[in-house]
Amino acid sequence: MSDSPTPESRIVVLRQTINEYNYHYYVLDEPKVPDAQYDRLFNELLALEKAHPQLVTEDSPTQKVGAAPLSAFSQVEHEVPMLSLDNAFDEESLIAFEKRLRDRLKDTSELTFSCEPKLDGLAVSILYEQGKLVRAATRGDGRVGENITENVRTIANVPLSLRGENWPERLEVRGEVFMPRAGFIKLNEMQKQQQAKVFANPRNAAAGSLRQLDSRITAKRPLQFYAYSLGVVQPDSYSLPLLHSERLHLLAEWGLPLCPEVDSTIGSHGCLKYYQRILDARDTLPYDIDGVVFKVDRIDLQEKLGFVSRAPRWAIAQKFPAQEEITTLQDVEFQV
Ligand code: NAD
Repeated sequence: MSDSPTPESRIVVLRQTINEYNYHYYVLDEPKVPDAQYDRLFNELLALEKAHPQLVTEDSPTQKVGAAPLSAFSQVEHEVPMLSLDNAFDEESLIAFEKRLRDRLKDTSELTFSCEPKLDGLAVSILYEQGKLVRAATRGDGRVGENITENVRTIANVPLSLRGENWPERLEVRGEVFMPRAGFIKLNEMQKQQQAKVFANPRNAAAGSLRQLDSRITAKRPLQFYAYSLGVVQPDSYSLPLLHSERLHLLAEWGLPLCPEVDSTIGSHGCLKYYQRILDARDTLPYDIDGVVFKVDRIDLQEKLGFVSRAPRWAIAQKFPAQEEITTLQDVEFQV
């Protein structure tokens, strides 16, 4: 008799393992394994569920975003869910992504994409009312996040008041909080000197710094923010530009910081060129990125394409080869 597991039993093992890794990553801010190893297991689970759709359950990690918020923080319910992104790991899957979009839109013309570095930090929602920052929250499980208003108010490049005047009464800005590499190195040196916790990478340092109960600690950490989308905008009659890229520029006019590498391009061939350009520049950038994100630029097409369970259909993250891969190969402890 063969020892190989049935799809059912393998799926159970994968879900348990991924849930355990998610807890360490999202709740404790202390990953147990390198991302590349996590991604391999997650993709194996996705492939098994695709081949056996009857085995998909609502509580599978493939159907969920992040993790529930910590009870130490008060909770914020997201009026528009904060989703994750689908991933492409090679050229073929990016080309297939564009083809899927065109088939679904029944349109043969090439699509324009907004191209953005995939910053390796954590997603944050910042709400402005009458131009004033009134609330900030983590993504949490996508539906409910943690209220981290006081902490976000300490981030130097997050405006407490919007510039200009024609902003909507309520404006939710979404983006990534991250720790630039130089600040991360300095922070770890200081932590070592003080015999305090040393962070595994800038992403963990950013997450650990932002999810502090004492905002005076966050204020001392070198965090930064780049905006990459909008959430709630009210009143509903407020007229926003019809392109995602133009909306980003509007955010910049209102004083919100944007990543300088943001660009737009046409078709999957343009996306592949952008991917290569950013991959080549990766080591010279002052912050960590783990890939690039492509988003259909036309908002009406985004709305037509809609969402699947945990990610929009109109965007994809093309991941870079993992820098941690070498450690992974030597990592024999976690064979699932
Ligand atoms: P994700 O990181 O693959 O993609 C979604 C996130 O990308 C968003 O929430 C946002 O924070 C970020 N992002 C950065 N730049 C963006 C931009 N320009 N536009 C939009 N979003 C942008 O998804 P996820 O659900 O946050 O996490 C999954 C990933 O986290 C995995 O692929 C894995 O690499 C890592 N992870 C690792 C472990 C581990 O144990 N090592 C555990 C869980 C997750």
